[in-house]
Order: sequence, then C-alpha cells, then structure tokens
Amino acid sequence: MSEKTRGQTLKEELFYKKKSAFEVKTPEELQQAKDYAVGYSAWLDKSKTEREAVEAGIELLEAAGYKPYSVGDPIKAGDRLYLNNRGKSLFAMHVGTEPIENGVRICAAHIDSPRLDLKQHPLFENDGFAYFKTHYYGGIRKYQWITIPLALHGVVTKADGETVKIRIGDEPGDPVLCISDLLPHLAKNQNGRPLGQAFTGEGLNVILGSSPFIEEDGKITPADEKSKLNIMILLNEKYGITESDFISAELSIVPAQNTVDVGLDRWLIGSYGHDDRVCSYPALTALMEAEESVHTNIAVLADKEGIGSVGVSGMQCVLLSDLIDELAKNLGGNPNVVRDRSKCLSADVTAAFDPNYPEVYEKRNSAIVHAGVGLAKYTGSGGKGGTNDASAELVGEVRKIFDDAGVIWQTAELGKVDQGGGGTVAMYIADHNIETVDIGVPVLSMHAPFELISKADLYEAHRAFAAFCR
Ligand code: MN
Repeated sequence: MSEKTRGQTLKEELFYKKKSAFEVKTPEELQQAKDYAVGYSAWLDKSKTEREAVEAGIELLEAAGYKPYSVGDPIKAGDRLYLNNRGKSLFAMHVGTEPIENGVRICAAHIDSPRLDLKQHPLFENDGFAYFKTHYYGGIRKYQWITIPLALHGVVTKADGETVKIRIGDEPGDPVLCISDLLPHLAKNQNGRPLGQAFTGEGLNVILGSSPFIEEDGKITPADEKSKLNIMILLNEKYGITESDFISAELSIVPAQNTVDVGLDRWLIGSYGHDDRVCSYPALTALMEAEESVHTNIAVLADKEGIGSVGVSGMQCVLLSDLIDELAKNLGGNPNVVRDRSKCLSADVTAAFDPNYPEVYEKRNSAIVHAGVGLAKYTGSGGKGGTNDASAELVGEVRKIFDDAGVIWQTAELGKVDQGGGGTVAMYIADHNIETVDIGVPVLSMHAPFELISKADLYEAHRAFAAFCR
C-alpha cells in the first residue's frame, strides 16, 4: 500500500464522512443488532395500540423488577418504578443515587400510531354488507389502507361500567376486516383525480360481514338490517356488548399484518407502527440497561403524538413535570432546579432517504438506512416552524456522549426545505424548561400500514439511549 499524501491525510482529518453500520461494526456486533431485533419484533406484535403498548411495556418492566407507582407514592434512591397513566401512556423511572438537583435524563417516545378509529355510531348496513364507519387518526395516506387485511383492536366500556378488550384479526385462524376498492376497469373517473382527493375519509368504511341473520327455522330473518343484526349478535356473544356500547369505546382498525423481515438478507423489519414504537422499545431497554448509573433516568411512552400531543395522555399534559415535582419532594430538591438541569432525548422516528423518491430529499442532510440513529437538531416545516431547534451546546454534549460510547449515529432532516415537514413532542418537553433534542430511527414509508426500519439503526437507538442514561 502506498503512503497517503498530505492532502489525503488532511482530508481524512478535516472532512466528515458518514459511515454505515456495515463499514464500522464487526460481524459479532452486527449479529447483536439482529438478536436485539427479535425482542423488538415480538414486543411490537403485542403493541398495535397505545393501550397494548402500555401493557407490553409493563410486562417488560415487571420482569426487570419495576413496581407500580401512583402520583403521591413515596420515592427513594434505587427505586425502579412505573406509572401507568390511565392505560394509555407509560412513565418508567430508575431513581439514581446522585442528588436529584443534578437533573434527570429523559427518553421520551410515543406509542400511538396512525390508524382508523371507529366513530361513535360505527355500525351500519348497506346492500347486504355490514360496515364500520371510521374517522382516521393521525397522518395517513388514505389509499394505503384500502384492500389490505385489517384488524380490530381496542376497548369497550359497557353500560354497566365493565370494560372489555377486543382484538380480532391477529391470532392464527382469525378473520380479518377490509376496505374494498374499485376495479381498474371502472376506475376511469377515480384515476383522473389527484391522489389526495381520490379517496375520502367518509369512504373508509370497513367490511365486517356480508350474510343475513338466519332464524331458528333456517330461514332468513324478516327483520331489516339483517347483516348488521348478524354482526351485532356475534359481537354480543363474544364480548357481551350491544350497539349503544360503541358510544363509550375506543376501537381502532389497524393492519392485520405482524412484523416480518424484509429483504433476502433480513436487515429490514417491515411492520405497522414502527413510528414510534421503534423508539419506545429502546427507551425501555436502555433504561433497564443503564441501571448502574448514578443518574435518575425516566423513559416516557406517550400517547396522542399523532394528533398534537393533547389530552391527559399526551406530552402537553403536565404529568411529566408533576413527576419531577414528586421526585424533588421525595429526594430533597427544588423541582425548578431539577427541571433546569434535566435533559431529554425526544425519541421519535425520522424519514429515511428513499432512493425510489430522491426528489423530495436533500441527501446530504437526510438520514440514510443502516447509518445509525438519526439526530435532528430541528424538525418543523416552512422555515423551521413548530420545532424545538436544540442548541449547539446540547447537540455537542449529546454528540460527545454518543461518540464516547461508539454509537453509530447521523444527522437527520425530514426532507427538502419547503417540501413538507413534521413535528415531535420535543417542544412540549422544552416548555417545562428541560433541554431537549430530537433523535430517532430512520423509517421508510413512514405512517404507511407497513413501514420499514433497519435492524442496525434500531440497535443503535438502544445503544444511544443507554449511553445517554449512563
Ligand atoms: Mn412519530
């Protein structure tokens, strides 16, 4: 090998070069990433709604010795606690031994994903078919939800106050639900419409059944709404619900597909709901892995990010701040000082550069699949509107933590300037005077019913969050 010239050496010293996990990692390290993905995939299959993600999260936490906590309970150093917020968001904390006024480290992800929620009077019949009316939740491209197998997940609180869980379409042998589409032979008018107008929200009606109720004498019932009656009877037999119980329900239509490896080399995972459970799972595993840390670490799995982080289970709620008040009260500190010295990774997915659609990305500043977890100094749209925009100092601090721990990471910007944009929970956490920066796993086909992520990037998210907690 010939000696490097001064120019070549200086270039290596002075220039930034993004590297993929395959350039940097040993075969053993790459295998660790694949092994980590197995646990994630299993967890994700149990977590198709925020409620299910809370339950699956608690399962992991309890197995690691975490105990239930309610606001007001005593807290002491060394405690492993989780707060189940009304079944819809989850706060897990490991209380460190250092003074609480040193601040806490927070990894905040979200566990809600785009889906089709049922309306309050969802069940109707049209020409022999029984349907559910839906009202979509979050940013969806409507055409993607048509002609794919769908499942029904959620809860119904009955008139007597009892809440029953519903999960149809994901167990082996289960029937699935579906939204039908036009045949190409008759789609002339629809094909002429812009993609965003070809499908309407009110048109996203889900097929539930197609057969009439049969009376005991073997004859079709003379009652009208025969298919709707048939479906209501089946639901009543299985769950004990009547039509009025839909009024007090949270039922969602989600893709029936479970996680699966994508590509013959098995380096991608395809699934519904990577956004943002692909950061939620690492937030929990990092919390558990960093338990030797003297810091107090908190993992937040929030709800409602898809519709603006609103409500008691969203990140605009003061509960995170209340929790810091409780930590300060119990451990002897001024809560305002704790917040002032706390730091947060707003752990949410970012857009991965898609070679199939290069025109919407600015490649130099886009996250590349397999090049590690993506750090986004800012998100937002139209001149950084609606972004937290972390400081140079915080990005510098986090960058050093990652580099010292050998984390593979890259910067991430959602796409070209003025092409679109998006937001995260970061600004709502920063509102509490907590320094926050966005970081997350790059996703292909974000918000689609079947999103793709890299196993290497997933593992680096875990390693990044663990380094931050340590
Ligand atoms: Mn997200």
